[in-house]
Amino acid sequence: MKTCLLALATALAAYVLPAQTLTLATRGQPAAYTIVRPANASPSQVYAAEEFQRFTEQLTGVKLPIVGDDAPLPERAVLLGDTRYTAQLLGGPADLKALGEDGFRLKTCPPHLLIVGGPVRGTLYGAYEVLERLGGCRWYASWHSVIPKLNAWSIPALDETQTPAFALREPFWFDMFDGDLAARNKVNGNSMRLADKHGGHSYRFGGGLGSCHTFNTLCSPDEHFAAHPEYFSEVNGKRVKEYTQLCLSNPDVLRIVTANVLDRIRKDPGASFYGVSQNDWGNYCTCPACKALDDAEESHAGSMIVFVNKIAEAVEKEFPNVTIETLAYQYTRKPPKTVRPRDNVMPCLCTIECDFSHPIEVSGYAQNRAFLSDIRGWGAICKRLYVWDYTTNFRDYTSPFPNVLALQGNVKFFHANRVDYLFEQGAYQGRHGDFAELKAWLLAKWLWNPELPQEALLQDFFKGYYGAAAPYVRNYFDALHSFYRDPATRPLCIFDDPNQALLTDDFYERASGLWQQAEAAVKDDPAHLYNVRMGAFSVLYGKLARVPASEEIKVWVTENPQQYAASADQRALAAELLSRFDEAKDIRISEGAEYHDGVIARWKTLANPPALPPAAKQAFVEDKLLSLGNRGTWGDTVADPKAEDGSAMKLYNTHYEWCTTLPFSRVAFDPGKKYRIRMRVRVEKEPGKDGEAFWVGVYDTKNKKGCGGLERKTADVGDDYAWYDVAEWVPERDHYFWIGPGRFDKQAGATSAIKALYIDKLELLRLD
Ligand SMILES: [Zn+2]
Repeated sequence: MKTCLLALATALAAYVLPAQTLTLATRGQPAAYTIVRPANASPSQVYAAEEFQRFTEQLTGVKLPIVGDDAPLPERAVLLGDTRYTAQLLGGPADLKALGEDGFRLKTCPPHLLIVGGPVRGTLYGAYEVLERLGGCRWYASWHSVIPKLNAWSIPALDETQTPAFALREPFWFDMFDGDLAARNKVNGNSMRLADKHGGHSYRFGGGLGSCHTFNTLCSPDEHFAAHPEYFSEVNGKRVKEYTQLCLSNPDVLRIVTANVLDRIRKDPGASFYGVSQNDWGNYCTCPACKALDDAEESHAGSMIVFVNKIAEAVEKEFPNVTIETLAYQYTRKPPKTVRPRDNVMPCLCTIECDFSHPIEVSGYAQNRAFLSDIRGWGAICKRLYVWDYTTNFRDYTSPFPNVLALQGNVKFFHANRVDYLFEQGAYQGRHGDFAELKAWLLAKWLWNPELPQEALLQDFFKGYYGAAAPYVRNYFDALHSFYRDPATRPLCIFDDPNQALLTDDFYERASGLWQQAEAAVKDDPAHLYNVRMGAFSVLYGKLARVPASEEIKVWVTENPQQYAASADQRALAAELLSRFDEAKDIRISEGAEYHDGVIARWKTLANPPALPPAAKQAFVEDKLLSLGNRGTWGDTVADPKAEDGSAMKLYNTHYEWCTTLPFSRVAFDPGKKYRIRMRVRVEKEPGKDGEAFWVGVYDTKNKKGCGGLERKTADVGDDYAWYDVAEWVPERDHYFWIGPGRFDKQAGATSAIKALYIDKLELLRLD
C-alpha cells in the first residue's frame, strides 16, 4: 500500500514539474541516470564522478552507476567533462578555453545534464555547484557537512557558465587546508592540501622561496657582510648587518641575487611564482644611489621595482612563463612615480595597517585612505596584482573580532581593482578562532563570486552550522558587529589587545547569556552542540582576558593576600576554557607560540590556584624578578659575589635607558596604603670621570607622571653596594619601578661616567 502511494506521489510530482525539469534520482527507485565521464578522464574528473555518485546517494539513497564515454550513451546521463557526446548535445564543440582551468558550463539537454569543464578543476567544480546549489549539499567545515534527505532530486532547466573572480583563491584558514573542504568550496590556494584528484595547485611559489621576505635567503648577510658590507642597507650613514635589507643599486647584489634566483628555478622548475622581496622589517638602504632613485620616484618601491625588473628580465630569457613576485609592503607600498613593473613582475600588496571594521573603501581611517590610493596606483601600472589581506586578530585569534561585515566589501574592492590573486590570511594554526569556520566559508564563496548576497549566505551558514541555536548565535553576531561605528577614531586592527577593544562588560554578560541559550537549544544534537560550544569560546576567552592577571603576582607585600584570590567565577571560567580547549584538541590562541603557551598556563593556574602566601608588611625583590629591555645589549644577569644572593643585574655603560623595570601589576599591595621602595645597588665607576651614576624612579603610566625617584652623581656614591631610598607613595597596578645608568650627552659624543651599574635587590615596605 505504501509503495503504491509513493509511486502515485512521484507520478503526480512528475506531472506538475515543468517539462524541462530533470529528476536525477528518486528515493526507493532504481537509478534512472548514469554518470558518464571521458574514458581518459583526468584524476579530478574521475573524482568528480565519484563525488557526484557519493552525494547523490547521500541525498536520495540512489547510487548512480559511472561509465566511460567509450560506452554507448545511456538513455539518461549526467555527462561530466568534454565527453565524446558533449559537442553533439551542445550543438557544437565546448569552448573549454573560455572556461580556463576552473570554469564550467551547466546545461540541461533533456533528458541529459551536461557539466562541461576542463580536466584541471572545472568539471569537478561544476559537479559541486550542482550538488550544492541544486541539491542543497553544504560543506561548512571538515567535520560538518549538511546533506539533505530528498525523496526526489529534481533540477530545473539550466544553461549557465561560471568562471571565478580570482585565479588564485586562498582563504588561509586552518580548516580550509583540508583538501576535500577546499575543493568542495572551489578554493585552490597553495596551502590547501589539494591532491591530483582535487586538481592540484596551479599557482605554486617555487624555489624554496615562498611568497615573502626572501632577501636574506637570496643574499645572506652571514655569508657576505664581513667581506662586502656595501651589499647591505646603509642606515644613518652605516652599513648594517642585523635587520638589514639589500643595497638595491649595487651591481654585485643584482648579479648574486639573479644567479641565485635562476639557480633555484632550474632546480625547482614549473612553479608560477618565485619571490624576490624585502625582509620583514624596515631599514631600507639610504646610500646616495638608492636614495636618489627613491627620492625621484617618491617611494622606496622605486629602487625595489628597478631591481626586481632587472631580475625578471634575466629570468624571462630562460623561463618566459615565470612571474617574479615582490612585496609592496610597509615602506614599499606606495607605487613608484615613473618606473613600471615588467609584465612578469607581480607586486603583492598587504593591508596590514588597515582598519577591518568596515570595508577598506568605506572606512574613514587614515591608513585605509592611504591603502586605497596605493592599490589604485598599482592597479593602473601592473599586469598582475597579488593582495595579502588579513581577516583575524593575530594577537588573539580567539578573541571577538567583528570584521565579518567588511569581508565582502573588501573582496569586491580587490576584484574591481584588478587583483588576480587573493590571499586572505586568517587563523591558520588551529581551529575555532573567532567565527573562523564562518569567515573561511564566506571568503571561499566570495573569492569565487564576490556578488553572492551576504545576508543569504549568513542565514545559510547559521542555520546549517548551528541548527536550532542559530537565532541566538545570530543575535550575538549582530550585537558584536554593532561596535566599531567610527573607525576614524577607533579602528579594528589585527593586533588589538582584547582589553583595549570597545566591547564592554555589559556586552560580555549579554553575549554569555545568548551562547548559554544557544547551547540549551541544541543540547540533544551533538553535531550542532559542538559547533555552539566552540563558537562560544571567543566570548569566554574575551571575558577572562578582562580579568586583571593576579596570577602573575610574584611579590606579596599585603596584610590581606585573600583579596588577590581568583573568584569562584574566574576559576570556573578558566576550567571551562581548558575543557573546551582539550575537547577541540587543535585550538590555537595566538600567532605567537609563547603567547599561546602563556595563556594556557594562565588558565591552568587560575583553575587550580596555588595556596596564598602569609600576610607580610615587607618583601624583597631579587634582581631575577626584574624585567630587562634589550637583554645582552643594555645589560644582563650576572654572577656577583658581592650581591647578597650572589646574583645581580648588570647594566652596561652603553646607554641610559630605563631598561630595568618592575611592573607593580606583579606585586600584591594593600590598595590605598603608603609604601616605601628601596634598592641595593653598586656603581662601577669609570676612573677619572665625573658624571651621573644612575637615575631611578616610579612611573604612573595612566597619568603619565613620576611618583618619586632620585639621581646620583659618581662623586656621591661609593664603590660598594649600598641601599638607596627611591620613593614613598601609594602604589597602583599601572605604576612601575624603573632604573637606568646615568645620563650623558650623546649628541656631543660623550660617554658614560660609569663602567656598569649592578642591581642586587629591591625592598618594599608598607608604612602605615
Ligand atoms: Zn644602497
